[in-house]
Amino acid sequence: AQTPVKVTVTGAAGQIGYALLFRIASGQLLGADVPVKLSLLEIPQAVKAAEGTAMELDDCAFPLLSGIEITDDPNTAFDGASVALLVGAMPRKAGMERGDLLEANGGIFGPQGKAINDNAADDIRVLVVGNPANTNALIAQQHAPDVPAERFTAMTRLDHNRALSQLAAKLQVPVTEIKKMTIWGNHSATQYPDLFHAEVGGKIAAEQVDEAWLRDTFIPTVAKRGAAIIEARGASSAASAANAAIDHVYDWVNGTEWTSAAIPSDGSYGVPEGIISSFPVASRDGKWEIIQGLEIDAFSRERIDASVRELTEERDAVRQLGLI
Ligand code: NDP
Repeated sequence: AQTPVKVTVTGAAGQIGYALLFRIASGQLLGADVPVKLSLLEIPQAVKAAEGTAMELDDCAFPLLSGIEITDDPNTAFDGASVALLVGAMPRKAGMERGDLLEANGGIFGPQGKAINDNAADDIRVLVVGNPANTNALIAQQHAPDVPAERFTAMTRLDHNRALSQLAAKLQVPVTEIKKMTIWGNHSATQYPDLFHAEVGGKIAAEQVDEAWLRDTFIPTVAKRGAAIIEARGASSAASAANAAIDHVYDWVNGTEWTSAAIPSDGSYGVPEGIISSFPVASRDGKWEIIQGLEIDAFSRERIDASVRELTEERDAVRQLGLI
């Protein structure tokens, strides 16, 4: 039988964790023939709640789940891990300055990056979900000098899936008709969902919608969907975030021709090298590759640049705070 793959989830007792763990254990993260071992990392106050979730995981009797460990120690949590889903983060509280938010998250993602560096398996792949996800991923990466830099990624797949769903509803087509969707930049309100390369039924999506809808409805709806869900549901999106995390890792491991993921820039499309920004990507042989050769018009350029500027400012801020 195949050796189980260790998957570490931080913030495991949170609401995204609750929507995520059962799907990992059922085989949806890596494939229906890959046994997994779950490691749940929590802060001490939340370990008991994580134990409760683990009891429920036991009660599912998942054939692929070979074991569960629960800990508040990152070194233990990441020991031998091949996949790390960094979900737990310090949320922005009312009145919190950006510097305070970055500092608090530096205190989480710096030590986790080091623990990954020192303990994880050689094939470790890291997806950061906890916000500010792109910059948290950069902090973790900078504390893991022995891990190849490209193994640290952040999630824009939920934004990507939201964009697919909004466009499909507008054009009244199934989501499967839409190809080559792209989210550029930061997982924040400045993100840029790009319809100039997306195709519907083989034709450019931007040519099938009017410009006012694209500019004034589509882009803000995708970018602000998280807030709309909080407004409607009374809690932030959790199942859809967990679903996107599953999609991201599944595609990274198993391959895809085109999706969106925030990965370290190699300088493509004028995005400064090293920052973790969302791009159109393919995955081959377990590695993300930025899709090259797309023409970027002025409309897109302006929006990509604005989101990338925000990312470089966040990077400069964490540098100034000595967090990287
Ligand atoms: P959630 O599980 O709802 O969210 C966790 C993180 O995911 C937040 O930072 C949230 O950012 C982020 N996120 C990213 N994308 C989305 C999205 N589309 N929708 C919603 N959230 C998104 O938070 P909970 O408070 O329920 O649980 C967090 C858990 O993490 C707690 O159990 C806490 O104890 C734990 N924690 C663990 C740490 C550790 O393991 N060392 C460190 C810190 C916390 P945003 O707030 O911006 O929406």
